[in-house]
Amino acid sequence: MNTYLVIILCIIVGNYLSDIVVETLNVRHARTDLPEEYEGYYDAEEYKRAQNYLRENTRFEIIVSTITTPITVAFILVGGFNFVDQIARTFRLGPISTGLIFAGILMLASQIISIPFSAYSTFVIEEKYGFNRTTVRTFILDILKTWLLAATIAAPVFSVVLWFFGKAGNWAWVYCWVVVVLFQIALTFFAPVVILPLFNKFYPLGDGKLKAAIEDYVRSQNLRMKGVFKMDASKRSTKTNAFFTGFGKFRRIVLFDTLIEKYSVDELVSILAHETGHYKKKHVFKSILMSIVTMGLMFFLISFFINNEGLFSAFRMQNTSIYASLIFFAFLYAPINMVISIFSKMLSRKREYEADAYAVGTYRKPESMISALKKLTVDNLSNLTPHPLKVFLSYAHPPVLERIRAIRRKELLE
Ligand SMILES: [Zn+2]
Repeated sequence: MNTYLVIILCIIVGNYLSDIVVETLNVRHARTDLPEEYEGYYDAEEYKRAQNYLRENTRFEIIVSTITTPITVAFILVGGFNFVDQIARTFRLGPISTGLIFAGILMLASQIISIPFSAYSTFVIEEKYGFNRTTVRTFILDILKTWLLAATIAAPVFSVVLWFFGKAGNWAWVYCWVVVVLFQIALTFFAPVVILPLFNKFYPLGDGKLKAAIEDYVRSQNLRMKGVFKMDASKRSTKTNAFFTGFGKFRRIVLFDTLIEKYSVDELVSILAHETGHYKKKHVFKSILMSIVTMGLMFFLISFFINNEGLFSAFRMQNTSIYASLIFFAFLYAPINMVISIFSKMLSRKREYEADAYAVGTYRKPESMISALKKLTVDNLSNLTPHPLKVFLSYAHPPVLERIRAIRRKELLE
């Protein structure tokens, strides 16, 4: 048997099995008695609902991967990639256009397979727990817009990468790296003004107590930005959130309308102060820097697998091509990507503590910060007691009880 095939199958199956172990541990770890800290925020009934939500989502995720993993494995084993490649080649176009057709068919197929799952998650699970506000129309439009974006953003990038690997010889990976990084930076500048408005409406925050409080805080921090916006998140879900987006002149603070409805001015400014902390501590900048470095590593590694005979025979391909090399490489890269992701999640958790500390240190209302955190978890039925292994592997934020403890500890120290 082909060594690459063995490695790739081990990666896919290993990933599937380890997911099941972690998810099962996580569900079993959830505490059934309400943590003391949450008394007054959750009643027994509502807390039970949060746990059912966790259980139901976990079961659903396991069912989805139990269906999609065998589909992926079977597709590889029966030579599905070669089948798609032969279709793409019937058009007798150049290597780049053929590559776009090849990748396009694969993308579209995997998107279509995922539609029923995402419909079930939105219209059955989220609906049952009272989160869903998405209409069928919004659901379909979202899918179409995502495809349109993929076609206008991913297709040109993929073409440029194919072109460099086809023409630029040994240094192709460096050119690809530079171009993709420039493209990514341009995207972070323009996303808030060009891409986000495709999915949501943004309104400048109206005059009032909230706006005045935010402006006071922003001024006290010498923060330059484009303004504070309210986003119509309620058109999809009742879940709550807030974020900073864009750079330089395009930087803006976005608060979900669902958040503004339910939180006090002090709680909202605390959330904003937390986001400001991320910015002031250069977290956004550092994570972009890290993604630039890892992207370089990825392109460097790709260059070893372009037209790799062994890899092509693992996928039962009749012809080698650069475009298929890139897709096959993604299978090999998955474990490396996972290691990188664990490392960056670890950093991200550390930065959450720093942003909390910044918020409490500058806005000086720790109780508002704590109640905002509590409300956020209750509103989103988040798991209060995740398993440490689950946290280690995939949590970008520390478990909320640990954040609250850290804020209280800091408060005591001062
Ligand atoms: Zn944060």
